[in-house]
Amino acid sequence: MKSYITTPIYYVNGAPHIGHAYTSIVADILKRNRQAQGVEMLLSTGVDEHGQKNQEAAADLGMEISAYLDMRCAEFREVFDKFDVQYDYFVRTSRDGHKQAVADMEQSIFDKDLIVKHAYTGIYCKGCEEFKKESDLTEDGQCPLHPTMKVEQTDETNYFLKMEPFRERLLKHIEDNPDFVTPPAFRTELKQMLSEPLEDLCISRPKSRVTLGVELPFDTDFVTYVWFDALANYLTNIGWPEDGYQDWWADVEHLIGKDILKPHGVYWPIMLMAAGLPLPKRLSVHSHWTGAGGVKMSKSIGNVVDPNEVMEMMGVDALRWYLARHMRADSDSQISVELIRQTYNSELGNKIGNLLSRVAKFSNKNFDGKVPQPGPLTAEDEALRKTVVDAVAGFASWMYLPDIPGRVQALVTAAEAMNEYIDQQAPWSLFKNEETRERCATVLYVTLDLQRILFEALTQVIPGSAKKALEMLGAPEVATPWKAELDKLAGGTQLGEIVALFPRVNAPEAA
Ligand SMILES: [Zn+2]
Repeated sequence: MKSYITTPIYYVNGAPHIGHAYTSIVADILKRNRQAQGVEMLLSTGVDEHGQKNQEAAADLGMEISAYLDMRCAEFREVFDKFDVQYDYFVRTSRDGHKQAVADMEQSIFDKDLIVKHAYTGIYCKGCEEFKKESDLTEDGQCPLHPTMKVEQTDETNYFLKMEPFRERLLKHIEDNPDFVTPPAFRTELKQMLSEPLEDLCISRPKSRVTLGVELPFDTDFVTYVWFDALANYLTNIGWPEDGYQDWWADVEHLIGKDILKPHGVYWPIMLMAAGLPLPKRLSVHSHWTGAGGVKMSKSIGNVVDPNEVMEMMGVDALRWYLARHMRADSDSQISVELIRQTYNSELGNKIGNLLSRVAKFSNKNFDGKVPQPGPLTAEDEALRKTVVDAVAGFASWMYLPDIPGRVQALVTAAEAMNEYIDQQAPWSLFKNEETRERCATVLYVTLDLQRILFEALTQVIPGSAKKALEMLGAPEVATPWKAELDKLAGGTQLGEIVALFPRVNAPEAA
């Protein structure tokens, strides 16, 4: 089976931020989860190099546009590599094949008389690169997403895609396919967007205003509206219109932030219907990150979380862990460097990492550097084994975006149960007497084998640290398809070198 996950392609008019990190990291977690079940995966992420904002960002720096794009693109790629995001395809919309396919799609829709040319007077937000209705604006007449950018009055002739002929069909598709948009709050929001007649969608920009884009195949005085071009990446990445894309397209899931629900939930499906192509299987929508206390992140407040800074301070897995663990399904979630630090120390450090190093070090010292040989198991051993195996089960089955926090939470619960077990069984005391030494070996064995299972599940979330942990345990290769199987860590196995997985990070000294 094949499955295809996409992230949005990101505007390169600024450096990568926490929102980019989040979507790409959860996409990677979903990919690893499905791969662990033997599914053939494709993950695409990348950058949107067209549009007015990129054009202006280059001009602001006084750079040649292509040099600017190369620089930003390299920067994004490097950051995604540091995030441990295993993307298979890195999108650049400046690629010739992409541009040609976009033009082909436009021509095919134009040939069906679904694209019309007319004048348009209205309000335009440069931030959204979109025309706005009065009703879309704030009380003081600005875009709610870009209040400081100042909307502009425009009077332009452009090309428009007819949307209204497809509205009922799209609504019916949403009705018939409850999983098309998740979680349900966003499905409701999308249905609301489609409850009234749709205006034609402007799909062009005159070259007099924007030059950075795909030229319209039927009128070279215009370039393609950046959303039309960007959305098409999901198809052009897998080789459309050439044969072979169909298997991937049959199981495509788009991950998006709630701010881009309309382009993905309205424009894109209608573009596909107009082009006579099947709709994506699933739109998985997430909310946004806010600063601590629910305050919007902004440079002036100084509460912007820079993913690079977090990685330098605590490592990539502190970042991955927090992002995976703390996004709620349909409301905004809080993030700050301090919240990440606390979660890292208390969960990864105290609950997960310390347990491994304590038990592995003790076994290493007292059992000749080896995994102890277990004796007969007690009811307590069996109970713990059941708790842990049940807790990791979510990593042996198909995961969707809203499932991630709950399934990661289950691993914390499993680690807590193991810590409790060790405190109660107290192997350090058992070791002191000859007659309880076999029991000591059993307790250590049970814990080490269960930690192997825990870290096998964690390879889907924090792959770098999990790999190190499995090496410390001398664990065998993680099997595919993966499931929690007991006793795969044999007694007598040589332990690897024991290192601190999650060294404590102290709060920075107050300046
Ligand atoms: Zn805007």
